[in-house]
Amino acid sequence: MIHDIRNFCIIAHIDHGKSTLADRLLEITKTISEKKGDQLLDDMDLEKERGITIKSHAVQMEYKYNNKIYTLNLIDTPGHVDFSYEVSRSIAACEGAILVVDCTKSIQAQTISNLSLALKNNLIIIPVLNKIDLFDSISEDVMKEIMELVGCKIEDIIPVSAKNGLGINRVLNQIITRIPSPKGDPKAPLQAIIFDSLYNPFRGIEIFIRIKNGFIRKGQKLRFMSTGKVYSAYEIGILKLKRISKNQINTGDVGYIVSGIKNANEVRVGDTITDNQIPAKKAIQKFKEFKPMVFASIYPVDSDRYEELRSSIEKLKLNDASLSFKPESSPALGFGFHCGFLGFLHMEIVKDRLEREYDISVILTIPNVSYIVYMKNNQKVLINNPSDFPEMEKLKKVEEPYILVSIFTKDIYIGNIMSLCIEKRGIMVENHDYMVSRRIKIMYEMPLSEIVFDFYDKLKSVSNGYASFDYNFIGYRSSDLKKITVWINHEKIEPLSLLVHKTKVFFLAKKICKELSILIPKHQFSIPIQVSVSGRIIARETIKAFRKNVTDKCYGGDISRKRKLLEKQKKGKKKMRKIGKIEIPSSTFMTFLKVK
Ligand code: GDP
Ligand code: MG
Repeated sequence: MIHDIRNFCIIAHIDHGKSTLADRLLEITKTISEKKGDQLLDDMDLEKERGITIKSHAVQMEYKYNNKIYTLNLIDTPGHVDFSYEVSRSIAACEGAILVVDCTKSIQAQTISNLSLALKNNLIIIPVLNKIDLFDSISEDVMKEIMELVGCKIEDIIPVSAKNGLGINRVLNQIITRIPSPKGDPKAPLQAIIFDSLYNPFRGIEIFIRIKNGFIRKGQKLRFMSTGKVYSAYEIGILKLKRISKNQINTGDVGYIVSGIKNANEVRVGDTITDNQIPAKKAIQKFKEFKPMVFASIYPVDSDRYEELRSSIEKLKLNDASLSFKPESSPALGFGFHCGFLGFLHMEIVKDRLEREYDISVILTIPNVSYIVYMKNNQKVLINNPSDFPEMEKLKKVEEPYILVSIFTKDIYIGNIMSLCIEKRGIMVENHDYMVSRRIKIMYEMPLSEIVFDFYDKLKSVSNGYASFDYNFIGYRSSDLKKITVWINHEKIEPLSLLVHKTKVFFLAKKICKELSILIPKHQFSIPIQVSVSGRIIARETIKAFRKNVTDKCYGGDISRKRKLLEKQKKGKKKMRKIGKIEIPSSTFMTFLKVK
């Protein structure tokens, strides 16, 4: 029975065509009857808008090969560097991976990082060259690069057009003939690994699992091995485009369980579920945990909604195991949460999801990395919030996290990219890797804080989109950092504090003052904006008091225009946050980032 199952994922660099290929597979296997539009697996609104896959999605298909029907479980994965956590979880649930390479772009940074994750997990790799409809003939260089990377023969590479459906049958045939069926013992005690979960307000928490050994029957009493809690599986099933309930799910299956669990803390991704009466002796080995690299605080725009924000973040965490948070408070912003994210994009997506899925407007403070501070009294502290930064006089030294950045590009952009890396305090590592067709890999050691902000956007623009990057944490190194403090109307605004390298202090202080003086609207009185370092003011701007009423613009007596203007003003107010006597747009804290 188990011989008829194939569990696989699709891995690729972003935009190389994973989601489009998944759509074609769903069509050919008649999992969907006809073309229903593009990117069926990207069901989160955000994914459609940003055109990227954020969450991994699982879907089951059936395919007939040599007169036998096979069950194929496809797990779509995100390609962006921030989401390698999701990729690694998907990979843990598969035996094979389709490696998609865009023939116009060839191998890029995340092609390599995702491939190496797959190889580490001993997955069978099926290399696919996508978008061949864009070329009359396939470039030999690209083929060579793939062969070199995967270690395969030229005839193993399947040329396809995910857009037109060309070559897709061959991909399906290879999935069946080359990827092994899941191992596992249907008669052994139940072991199922939780790879994802989702909060459903009506049904309680839905748990997504892959069964390694044994089976689950509807109504069975299940034990969660890390907590010891026992629940009844009152609904179980498999995942097609919708959930399909079943009476039994078996070894090798990817499926879901609903047990009416309401408490988010009881469901842990990576936990093993077993039978309560005949439990497995051991849990399945957990996934490698990813440490948060970027920190920022989230506060409700409306401070009365703190409790609501708390329950929303808890629910979101169910579906995003890589998010971490703890309560904090600040004199300027009240009660909120200090959160840890995998990267900058991850942070933005958490904010967007809170606002859309949970309908709660939030203020996100400036992100920062974590620092190791050595005090003169020989204490060593880890600090991931600039407001906790001790007085400069008490410090011996500060260390910040460094990463090794690998950048893939064409040789003509190398000059631009090198200047960008130098501006970001990068140090080149002396082993340029030339590949075929004038492509090159360069490596820099760089402070993580420098790429947290706009590195990705800048890299794209200086290379006309022909550069991709990936990074690994390499350790903490000492740095000459200063804490910049912002004062608005003589009030210290801790959430706007920043740690910056000493060479950038003056430049940034000036820019921050300028930017804030544009962002903060005029009030009835003038507002001084100041930036200080170690208690010394180093930059200053003043927002002049406004004299005119907004409605003064509508001379004459046009009442309706006047009303419209006032309404518009009221709407804008909702997104304002009062700090002392000053109304600050809640977006200030984000817009502010662009100055870095
Ligand atoms: P993902 O980020 O890997 O999921 O990539 P998508 O599936 O979203 O594809 C990225 C873009 O490439 C979309 O605009 C697709 O329409 C386009 N695309 C995907 N496959 C093909 C193909 O075979 N030929 C052409 N011409 N475009 C494709
Ligand atoms: Mg996609």
